[in-house]
Amino acid sequence: MQHNNSIHCTVTECKFHCNSDNYCVLSEINVVKNINIASSIECTDCGSFQKK
Ligand code: SF4
Repeated sequence: MQHNNSIHCTVTECKFHCNSDNYCVLSEINVVKNINIASSIECTDCGSFQKK
């Protein structure tokens, strides 16, 4: 599957995850905060995730 070399991702549960290696197949993604004020990496998520 053609993937985006600029978006490395290990979320295998996502329908946009490239199964043959750890990349995303989308041309772009949205990165979002999961709290009002982000203070660590855990406060961010991929907003383009969709369950397989
Ligand atoms: S949409 Fe987000 S979570 Fe899904 S494969 Fe792409 S980068 Fe990973």
